[in-house]
Amino acid sequence: MELIIIGCDGSYPSANGACSGFLVRYGQEALLLDCGTGVLGKLTATMDPARLSAIVLTHWHNDHASDLLTLKYYLEISKQSLPLYAPAGPHPLGDLAQSRALDRRDLAPGFVIGGFAVSAVSVSHPVPAYAVRVSAGGKRLVYTGDTSRVDPLPAFSKGADVLICDAAFTSAQWNPDMPHLSAEKAAELALQADVGTLILSHCPPYNDAQTLLREASAVFPRARSAYNGMRLTL
Ligand SMILES: [Zn+2]
Repeated sequence: MELIIIGCDGSYPSANGACSGFLVRYGQEALLLDCGTGVLGKLTATMDPARLSAIVLTHWHNDHASDLLTLKYYLEISKQSLPLYAPAGPHPLGDLAQSRALDRRDLAPGFVIGGFAVSAVSVSHPVPAYAVRVSAGGKRLVYTGDTSRVDPLPAFSKGADVLICDAAFTSAQWNPDMPHLSAEKAAELALQADVGTLILSHCPPYNDAQTLLREASAVFPRARSAYNGMRLTL
């Protein structure tokens, strides 16, 4: 399994960056986890988006979903369609993204497509949101999406080869009412779950990724900062 980080900026994209979009490849199959602002252009530089196996949307926040609105134009114009696994229920952005080109299906509790098995678990965020676990070829990748709490992720992430975790805030910025985790909380989760590698994601452009990495590494040394274009083989 190969992970290519198309985008990982939090809340809004950095200059020439992109918000959340994680491409997971296995053989000829490819899943896109989230499709935030700036993802479509960078994805197109990597592969034809119409050749994705499916899109997985963790939640309907703009920085995770906005490029679905232009992806649907791409698919409509090229007369193609893709499965879109997303949280059930109505959402204004979901209504805007509605199209025959995006075959919407419920994300929970998971699905199998090609060589991928995907499980989803509900997490705490201001809108319905899920973490996903992607298994293929004997490897496991967990992506938390956005979450304000670690539970129920220690069990869900247990022994994962790679954990991509919301780590938006410094310890000084974080409190339990925040909609995202801190880098330190992400590292505590990685330690509890005994994952192989922790990838810190969702760093907003106003925060310093090195500070977040330093705070996480003090708890979990196998932490790395996500960056746009990062590639990792599991
Ligand atoms: Zn969010």
